[in-house]
Amino acid sequence: MELITHNLVAVIIQILCFRYFIFPLSIILTIIFAYISHLVVDALAKITYHTADAHTDDKFWVVWHIVIYSISLVSLIVFIVPFWLAILFANLIDITDWFILRPIRNWRTETQADSSKRDLWYAHKQADWIRDKFFFWLPNWNHKYVGVSIEIIIIISLSLIIFFII
Ligand SMILES: [Zn+2]
Repeated sequence: MELITHNLVAVIIQILCFRYFIFPLSIILTIIFAYISHLVVDALAKITYHTADAHTDDKFWVVWHIVIYSISLVSLIVFIVPFWLAILFANLIDITDWFILRPIRNWRTETQADSSKRDLWYAHKQADWIRDKFFFWLPNWNHKYVGVSIEIIIIISLSLIIFFII
């Protein structure tokens, strides 16, 4: 799912861990749950609008991404202090897969013919596993505009939870 969704889940995790566990368990559990949350949220991303490639010729895609990137940035600015720990670990997989492993893979694609082992190290493979194992019954709306409303409902619900527990 989108950055803001991961951030909101992370904030809830850190609030609850720091409220119900003492140091250092509060920090350790925040890190563990935040990391796992990314996998679960991404596994659920199946029911949200999420195209693998950029569809810059599609007006709907462009408008949605301007909106979602903007509010993702706002969520980062609003919550980074004091929730940076949970936010960092809730987005760690995206950081490593997209900004470290993907550039390496693209570079290797150009240099080696065997592509079968290329994707093996992506942490998102774990999200794929959770999706296949637990959420196989959910419809795939990755290319359906209706998936946007699902993500908006999730974002509003998470925001309300934060509002009431903070
Ligand atoms: Zn991800």
